[in-house]
Amino acid sequence: MHIPNRLLMGPGPSNVSHSVLDALSQPTIGHLDPAFQTLMEEVKDLMRAAFQTRNEMTFPISAPASLAMEAALVNLLEPGDKAIIAQNGVFGGRMAEIARRAGANVVLLSFDWGKPVCPDTVAETVEMHPDAKLLAFVHAETSTGVRSDAARLCRIAHKAGILSVVDTVTGLGGIPVAVDEWQADVVYSGTQKCLSVPPGLAPITFSARAIATIKARSTPVQSWFCDLNLVLGYWSGTGGRSYHHTAPVNAIYGLHKGLSELADEGLEASWTRHQAMHDRLAAGLADLGLEFLVDEPHRLPQLNTVVVPQGFDEAYVRQQLLQKHDIEIGAGLGDLAGKVWRIGLMGHTARPENVERLLTMLGHVLAEARQQAVA
Ligand code: PLP
Repeated sequence: MHIPNRLLMGPGPSNVSHSVLDALSQPTIGHLDPAFQTLMEEVKDLMRAAFQTRNEMTFPISAPASLAMEAALVNLLEPGDKAIIAQNGVFGGRMAEIARRAGANVVLLSFDWGKPVCPDTVAETVEMHPDAKLLAFVHAETSTGVRSDAARLCRIAHKAGILSVVDTVTGLGGIPVAVDEWQADVVYSGTQKCLSVPPGLAPITFSARAIATIKARSTPVQSWFCDLNLVLGYWSGTGGRSYHHTAPVNAIYGLHKGLSELADEGLEASWTRHQAMHDRLAAGLADLGLEFLVDEPHRLPQLNTVVVPQGFDEAYVRQQLLQKHDIEIGAGLGDLAGKVWRIGLMGHTARPENVERLLTMLGHVLAEARQQAVA
């Protein structure tokens, strides 16, 4: 097995620190071992700090973030429920699809890709549908690099007495996420973005309102694995845990280390670092004559969507960066395929030396590509 040493500047995974890799390689122990249970409690505490919540039910789902999306929606929705779902990129569309498959009536609000979810439109829609059970949206749209105003959107839901589901897979650790202040109900993330832990786990948190809604269901959750009523017995309290599935023990070591490193750095310091790296990148990209897709106030510092200039072969540039310079950047997804590059500055990747290296190499590759186009 030969694994190349890449600089990961795409939409995730981001680079993982040596200390997290070391933590992953600690000896495996039993998932019901008291030592592991202590670790589980610490991970829950560290996760609460990252999400800025006191929610008791805060834990990592043993799967990539797609399953957290699924768990959030299938636990809250019963057949016939109404769900208002805002879509401004790929991932809002997936939320709608999951809700439909759970038997919900979906009111889909579509916004232009590259623009944030419009709170006024959401407020009008919520008012028009007083029977809706929840509002779901993506805080940090990885497909476009747009940040939506999660505080305002959750406030609209809360005021109307409906639940909010927030996807902050790309947000957590990179920009402020304040679950309790937002009065958000279910918020989930992934490990492989700004937490810089390998993919495969999904931090999630449920408010007391969300838990009460799930406990009051009249139909069983359609997914056995995602059924929170069953998962709770595994992740809650010390001592009396019941077997649900075998937790990915070593992956939890890695998450513990990644979250500890975030706590040591401090949330605000991490957000400031992501913003500073974005500013540096933006200045360098402007020098190269490149433009952003997203208007400045709505840009995610950790996910930069850059318009491919006319006449350039976007795939060629990505391939050259990867094959010649060991740098991964991302392609456009869905409607944006072939039109943009996505440059990630997430977690451990978001450091000055990495920004400089990318800008230098991108400059060389663009110059070569330009010469080829002229020839
Ligand atoms: N939601 C958003 C906003 C994402 O960016 C992603 C992955 O990139 C997901 C959900 C799904 O995460 P995963 O690929 O870990 O299943």
